[in-house]
Amino acid sequence: MSSKTTNDKYNFKLIEAKWQNHWLSRNIYSAVAENGKEKYYVLEMFPYPSGRIHMGHVRNYSIGDVIARYKRLRGYNVLHPMGWDAFGLPAENAALKNNTHPAKWTYDNIDYMRNQLRRLGLSYDWGREIATCNVKYYAWEQLLFLKMFEKGIAYRKATTVNWCNSCRTVLANEQVEDGVCWRCSEPVVPRKMHGWFLKITDYAEELLADLEKLTGWPEKVLTMQRNWIGKSTGLACNFKIVGMEENISIFTTRPDTVFGVTFLSIAPEHPLIDALVAGTGRENEVKEFATRIIHEKQRHILEVEIEKEGIFTGRYCINPFNNKQIPIYVANFVLMEYGTGAVMAVPAHDQRDFEFAKKYALDICPVVIPEGDMLTAETMSEASTVPGVLINSGPFTSMPSGLAQKAIIDLAEEKGFGSAHVTYRLRDWGISRQRYWGAPIPVIYCDTCGIQPVPPEHLPVILPEDSESGQNECAPLEKRESFLAATCPSCGRAARRETDTMDTFVESSWYFARFTCPRYTEAPLERAKASQWLPVDQYIGGVEHAILHLLYSRFFTKVLRDLGYLDIDEPFTNLLTQGMVIKDGAKMSKSKGNVVDPNDLINAYGADTVRLFSLFAAPPEKDLEWSSQGVEGAYRFLNRVYRYIVNNKEIILAAKEVLVISSDTGRMLHRKIHQTIRKVTQNIENNFHFNTAISSIMELFNILSSLNEKEQNTNTEAAVIRQAINTIVVLLSPMVPHFCAEMWEYCGNSRSVEQERWPSFDEEAAKEDMLTIVIQVNGKVRSRLLVPTDIQDEILIDQSLTDENIVKHIGSKPIRKTIVVKKKLVNIVV
Ligand SMILES: [Zn+2]
Ligand SMILES: [Zn+2]
Repeated sequence: MSSKTTNDKYNFKLIEAKWQNHWLSRNIYSAVAENGKEKYYVLEMFPYPSGRIHMGHVRNYSIGDVIARYKRLRGYNVLHPMGWDAFGLPAENAALKNNTHPAKWTYDNIDYMRNQLRRLGLSYDWGREIATCNVKYYAWEQLLFLKMFEKGIAYRKATTVNWCNSCRTVLANEQVEDGVCWRCSEPVVPRKMHGWFLKITDYAEELLADLEKLTGWPEKVLTMQRNWIGKSTGLACNFKIVGMEENISIFTTRPDTVFGVTFLSIAPEHPLIDALVAGTGRENEVKEFATRIIHEKQRHILEVEIEKEGIFTGRYCINPFNNKQIPIYVANFVLMEYGTGAVMAVPAHDQRDFEFAKKYALDICPVVIPEGDMLTAETMSEASTVPGVLINSGPFTSMPSGLAQKAIIDLAEEKGFGSAHVTYRLRDWGISRQRYWGAPIPVIYCDTCGIQPVPPEHLPVILPEDSESGQNECAPLEKRESFLAATCPSCGRAARRETDTMDTFVESSWYFARFTCPRYTEAPLERAKASQWLPVDQYIGGVEHAILHLLYSRFFTKVLRDLGYLDIDEPFTNLLTQGMVIKDGAKMSKSKGNVVDPNDLINAYGADTVRLFSLFAAPPEKDLEWSSQGVEGAYRFLNRVYRYIVNNKEIILAAKEVLVISSDTGRMLHRKIHQTIRKVTQNIENNFHFNTAISSIMELFNILSSLNEKEQNTNTEAAVIRQAINTIVVLLSPMVPHFCAEMWEYCGNSRSVEQERWPSFDEEAAKEDMLTIVIQVNGKVRSRLLVPTDIQDEILIDQSLTDENIVKHIGSKPIRKTIVVKKKLVNIVV
C-alpha cells in the first residue's frame, strides 16, 4: 500500500491538487435525485464577482461546505450549487476606470474566482452554475416581470425617489441606511421621477404573518423584518373643516389620546392647502412657506433631524370626539408619502408635537395619566408617551389606555366618522435603475398606445454589449439610439424602449429556485424540479442582508407561488447568519489595510488548514478574530495527525476488522471514540458548532497519540487504534476534505471517504466505567459506594447520606460539612 502523495512529509500541494481533480473529473458532487434518499438543499449566498475572494467568503463557504459534506455522510441527497450575482454598479465603475467592457470584467472575474473556490475544495455541483448577467438567466426574469405586470404587481408611477448623485441612480428604501446610499455612503437626495415598482405591499400581511413559521431563523433577523414591515393598527378618522365641505383624514396609532388633540399638522404638499387658505388672507404667507419647505426637503438629505417649523393656515377644523375647534398648521415634519399627509397633534403625548406646541404657544392638554403619576400642562417638560388611565376624555374618562383604544374606535365606527385601520411602514419596491449593467425592463412606450409590455415571444430584450460611436462602454441605455428605437407591438408605429434596468436585487430574489433547474428552456422554473428541491433547507450568509435580500426573496417566493411556478410559501427553512472576520479589532477591509488574502494562505498552508482555522476559531454566528497563531496551530495539528498515521501505518494496516478489546486502555480508548462521535454529532446538529466539534476530535487524537508510546510495542489493541484513526478521519472529513480523503485511502480503505457513512455512536460503549468511592464520617472509613466515574458531587453526597452504614454512624448529629475528593472519597463532618 503506497501512495505517491503520501510520504514522510505532509505535502498539501500534491494532496489538494490530486483530490480536487479526482472530485471534478468524476463529478462526485453533482446532485442527482435518488430514490429513497431524503433531499437536503444547502446554499450560501452567492457572491458578487468583485475580482477575488476574501476571508469572509472563505468562512461563509467553508461553513456551507461542512454542512453539505456532513449531510452527504448522513445519507442525504444533497444539492449544493454555486453561481454569481453578476450585474451591478462596481462592474461599470471598474470598466470605466480600466477602459474595458463590464461584461469582460465580470466574466474574467468569474473565471478567476471559480478557480479560487475550486482551490478551497468546496463540494459544489458546478454543473448548475448560474451567472445572472447571462441572457439565459435574465431572459426568464424579463418574462417574470411581464407576468407581474399582467397581474398588476409590477407598475409604473411618478414619485419622490431616493437618488444617489454619486451612483447616478435611484435606490430602493431598503438601500438607504440612515439617509446615505448603502453602496457608496453618499447622502441620498429625494427626486421626483417615473419608475417601475413591485407591489411588495400587497404581501405585507403575509410577509409579516409567515415570520411565525420561520422557527429556524435567528430572532434578530425576524425582529428586523417585523420592524421593517412595521404594521400598526389604529384609527382612521375625519376632521371636518370649519366653513368648508371637505374633511381632513388622519391616522393615529394612539386613539386613546384623541381628547388631547390641540391642533392638526399637514404636509406642505397636502392637496387641500390651496383650498384651506383661500379667503383667509394668509394665502401668500402659507404658499411661500410650503414652497420653501418643499424646496428645502429636496435639498436636504432624508431622515436627518430638522428643526421643527410650521405656519398657521388661518383655518380650523372640528375634533369629532369633543367638537372642539382646533387650528390647522402646515408643518415641515409631516410627510405626504406616509399615512394621509395630515396628523392629529397631541402635544401632551407626542414629543414632536410637544416641541411644536412649545414653539408656537399652542395648548398642551394631558389626557392619559401613567400609573402613579400626575401630569399638568404647566409642569410637563416633555411629552408623556406611555399608556395609562384616561382623564378629561368624556365617556372614556378613567378607562385604561388599552380598553379605551378599542372603545374609541368603536364609537367612531358607530358614528360614522372613523374606523379601525391597519397601516404598514413597508413601501413598494422601486426597481428602476438608470444604469447600464443590468437586465433591461421589457417595456415599450408608444405615443398612441402608452405603456406596452414587450410580447413574450419577442423576449429577451438583450442588453446591447457594443458601444455606439463616441460613447463609453457603459453609457446608459437612454443614450443608445439603436437600443431606444422600437416598434409598438400594438399599433406598429415607431415607439421607444424603456431604458431603465432592473435593480440587481431582482436577480438575487429567485436564483435559489433557478438552481433546481438551471438549464430548463421552457419556463423560468421547472415545477417538478423546484418542488423536489425547495425550500432551501439551510441558507447561509451575512446579517447585512437581513432586510434587503431576505425580504425580497420571501416576497418573490410568494409571487412565484401565485404565478404557479412554486408550491412553497417560504424559500429558506433555516438561516444561519455568520459573523464577520475581524483583524486588529475591525472588519477586514482595504481601507483599513488589515486584509489577509486567502490566496497567500492557501499557498503557504493549504486549503485544509485555512478551512480548519476558520471553522475552529469561532462558532459560525460569532465574529472570527483573525490570528496567525491560530492558522499555525491548525497547520500543526494536521501535521501531527499526518505523522501519526504514517508512523503507525504497520499497526493500522495489520489491524483486524473485528474489534477485540483485551485491556483497560483499549476499553478506555473505545469508550472515548464513542463519546467523541456523540459529542461531534451533537455539536454539529446543535447550530453547527464546528469549533467545539473540532476540539473534541483533537482531544481524541491527543489521547490516542499519548497512549501510542506505551501501547505500540504490544500491538494488542491494534483494532481499537485503527478504529480511532478511522473515526478521526471520517469526523474531520467535512472540515478538511482533501487531507481526510488522502488519509483514508492511505489507511487501506477501499471506498473513498465521501462514500462512507457518518459513524453512529453506541450509548452503551460511551458510558463511563464505575468506580469505588470511600465514605468517611469524621475521617474514619465507614462505607464504600460503587458509582459512575463522572458522577456529580451533589448526587454523590446525596447517595452517601442515604447509605445504611452512614445513616447509622451519623445518628441524630447535625452535619457540619461534607468534603468531596474527586474519584476517591467523601468525608462527612458531624
Ligand atoms: Zn451611491
Ligand atoms: Zn402603439
